[in-house]
Amino acid sequence: MHRHAAGVLWVFAYVLLVTSPLLLMALRPAPPGRPFLVEASIALGFVGLVMMAAQFALIGRFALLSAPFGIDALLRYHRHIAMLALAFVVAHPVMLVLHDRAYLTWLDPLGGSWAIRTGNWAIYAIVLLTLLSIFRQRLRIGYETWRVTHAILGVGAVVSAHVHIHLAGRYTDAVWKEAVLIAISTVMVGLFLYLRFVKPAFVSRSPYRVAEVRPERGTVWSLSLTAVDHPGLRFVPGQYGYLKLRSPYTLHEHPFSLASSAERPDRLEFAIKELGDFTSGIGRVPPGTAAFVDGPHGSFSPDLSGAAGFVLIAGGIGIAPFMSVLRTMADRGDPRPVLLIYGEKRWDDVAFREELDELRQRMALDVVFALERPPDGWTGEVGFVNQEMLQRVLPRERFERHVFICGPNPMIDAVERALVNCGVPERLISAERFELV
Ligand SMILES: Cc1cc2nc3c(=O)[nH]c(=O)nc-3n(C[C@H](O)[C@H](O)[C@H](O)COP(=O)(O)OP(=O)(O)OC[C@H]3O[C@@H](n4cnc5c(N)ncnc54)[C@H](O)[C@@H]3O)c2cc1C
Repeated sequence: MHRHAAGVLWVFAYVLLVTSPLLLMALRPAPPGRPFLVEASIALGFVGLVMMAAQFALIGRFALLSAPFGIDALLRYHRHIAMLALAFVVAHPVMLVLHDRAYLTWLDPLGGSWAIRTGNWAIYAIVLLTLLSIFRQRLRIGYETWRVTHAILGVGAVVSAHVHIHLAGRYTDAVWKEAVLIAISTVMVGLFLYLRFVKPAFVSRSPYRVAEVRPERGTVWSLSLTAVDHPGLRFVPGQYGYLKLRSPYTLHEHPFSLASSAERPDRLEFAIKELGDFTSGIGRVPPGTAAFVDGPHGSFSPDLSGAAGFVLIAGGIGIAPFMSVLRTMADRGDPRPVLLIYGEKRWDDVAFREELDELRQRMALDVVFALERPPDGWTGEVGFVNQEMLQRVLPRERFERHVFICGPNPMIDAVERALVNCGVPERLISAERFELV
């Protein structure tokens, strides 16, 4: 199915899903005389719950769902829509209190009936989960610790909310209505549990071994993996995989762009920049270590574009997916022209610059380096990639080339704006963001 059509269908399915509780309520309207604020608060609570449950499916990395949008867009949606779901869930008790101040006594987490307590726990869990997500970096909570708390609080909130709905008994007069609500949450949470516990079992069937860990310029490491007793991973250049070392069930799984040629699926290579715990230890991973790759993911690829040529704009380690693009095009003898604009701080930090020289001999590649702190005598571009620089270096046939951008988020935002100002149509601009969470 065409990607846009699939996207429209998914949006329609999502809207239907989150409004389904309202349809259930409408099937048997409230008896006359029930206060509007109370009924509206129940409706918002139901919708908020289903939205929260749907959050699990959004982060499930399902190819069918992510293909039309891209996983980064789904994760951004997951983050933004969480605020609306939170607002709906919190509005539920707030509207009850507005209706009658007596409801204030219900907000004690340990007080009241079990129906009230479980409702409170669900709301407190969702509020805590949201606060931890917003302030994770400021509170210096490690990514893995945050992920575990996020999952526990999320599942806990959904289960608690269902107990609350069951005990409160409003609009769940018929068993089938409650069954529908429970089925929705079970499927959504089940998709997430599948990702954590079942998918790793599939991933474990295609193991790899670390063949080599090579230092590159600018605290970047090339990590090479060889497939053990299987043909490897079929991917298109620009895609990425979740890398796990030693065990497929480890919580330490990290997304990295495949940097190797897609023509060599049996030997995968990643270009990994030292940043935190995991990436700083890559240089010490001994050859022979077991490795697992959950992928390929993503739709950031010239292979899916079909344009007559490409402009690749990399900031720092954003070069990783483009190394795969260039290595693949060179291996395939692809004659289409490519302009690589590669921004880095210093000349000595420019990873793969020698290999880029070699690639220039093997394909129609032009490279423009833009350095923040150039060495003495530098005659190339200086500073951040901006509109002025793009006007100067973009090829004349810029309206026919597909532009791919990968780098830090502020750079991507600025370059996207600059490209549009230079007249590049938005449909010919694609970006890959490494900072998703
Ligand atoms: C699609 C994609 C492709 C990427 N490709 C590359 C690449 O080719 N080369 C490269 O060097 N880096 C790449 N990254 C970034 C890389 O995943 C992070 O730098 C790495 O996970 C940091 O882990 P750490 O433990 O060293 O650092 P930490 O200090 O633990 O994390 C630093 C930041 O990295 C992010 N991060 C950490 N773990 C994860 C995770 N499991 N999932 C998502 N984000 C996480 C979080 O924003 C975190 O705040 C990519 C990221 C994404 C989303």
